[in-house]
Amino acid sequence: MRFDIITIFPEIFSGVFDFGIVRRAVEAGLIEIHAHDLRDFTSDKHRQVDDRPFGGGAGMVMKPEPLFRAVESVANRSPEASVVLLSPQGRLFSQRLAEEYSRKPSLILICGRYEGVDERVAEHLVSDEISIGDYVLSGGEIPAMVVVDAVTRLIPGALGCGESAKRESFSQGLLDYPHYTRPAEFRDLRAPDVLLSGNHAEIERWRRRKSIEKTLRRRPDLLRDHAISEAEDKDIEKILKEIE
Ligand code: SAH
Repeated sequence: MRFDIITIFPEIFSGVFDFGIVRRAVEAGLIEIHAHDLRDFTSDKHRQVDDRPFGGGAGMVMKPEPLFRAVESVANRSPEASVVLLSPQGRLFSQRLAEEYSRKPSLILICGRYEGVDERVAEHLVSDEISIGDYVLSGGEIPAMVVVDAVTRLIPGALGCGESAKRESFSQGLLDYPHYTRPAEFRDLRAPDVLLSGNHAEIERWRRRKSIEKTLRRRPDLLRDHAISEAEDKDIEKILKEIE
């Protein structure tokens, strides 16, 4: 899979992808990440990417021409790419969307700055407008990093053996179960005995229960959106009664 990132700060990406799972995925040839300098797609002497807003008001707006030219140039190489604008006004990014993106051959990510981009970019250039949460950042670069990271770890082969995306939070509409490691007792705090028991069926049941319990306590909204089997439904009802 190929990621093309359009930004006025391409250097910001050097380093962040050089660690862990993303680095391994690049080295294994599973993904390619290219950061493009938006100023390379300007045609004036000052390489200007922003201008004052029509109608007045504070701040600057990103001009449409360099963004259109940048996307058109990059899309030449990847005609089947989805064009994503990072924006606080977009659809909320989620594990489900990350899964959808991980099946695509190519993503073009546009990072806004200043007051944002000329609305014609949002309306006519991009296929998706994506927000990483209900807060305003100063640029789309960190959101682009979030998307690249979340999508990469879902590409088959990106996670090493022993790591699995299937059991993680959100993947089944549930939060992950709690994890423990050595020592079994740390400052009088004991890891749950069942995990040391070696009884795999028991461990599985305990994890499933904890997973449901945590989700009920912290994110009941996830359960509402999740297709629940009858057996699960009974589990959930039982746990609900117990924690009430
Ligand atoms: N005036 C805009 C905010 C601009 S913030 C508004 O109120 O909607 C500048 C840029 O940062 C945006 O163009 C976008 O690319 C990026 N950005 C800020 N917050 C973001 C978020 N929550 N998710 C994705 N991108 C964000």
